[in-house]
Amino acid sequence: MPLKDIEARRAYDRERGKLPHRRAYDRNRPNKAERLAYVREWRASERGKAWELEFRRKYRATPKGKEVEQAAARKWYATPHGHAVRRAEGHARRAAGELTAEDVMRLLDEAGGRCVYCGREAPLEIEHILPVARGGTNAMSNLAAACRSCNSSKGAKTVDEWRKREAA
Ligand SMILES: [Zn+2]
Repeated sequence: MPLKDIEARRAYDRERGKLPHRRAYDRNRPNKAERLAYVREWRASERGKAWELEFRRKYRATPKGKEVEQAAARKWYATPHGHAVRRAEGHARRAAGELTAEDVMRLLDEAGGRCVYCGREAPLEIEHILPVARGGTNAMSNLAAACRSCNSSKGAKTVDEWRKREAA
């Protein structure tokens, strides 16, 4: 359904909602939990997914949609996970292989909030085990969730070099 039709439909529903027969319908329709369950089921279906993607794509193209999306992105990037993703994205652009937000989220989830190097609970960043500057890639096996302190102290060193320097 084209977006302007959806808007028109909504306006129509709003007007209709004021009518007595609409109120009777509201009383008789399935309860909220049932309706939500139905919507969830529909969204999980292939057709539902395709419909939703298409709807979002069109919505994002509208000025209001752009605004809403940018606001949501700003909010998400301000969270610890979002912050780590943004930093990783910037860094990863210079390394071979694609680093997706899903990869970053998975690493952070696996780390459970603790730095893989020092074990401290801290905001985590995505670390390249073999540094990008040394040819390290964005392969999952080359990535670790580390605290800022470990990440910046390790810098462009390999784990071995870093440990040796720390021990010295
Ligand atoms: Zn650490």
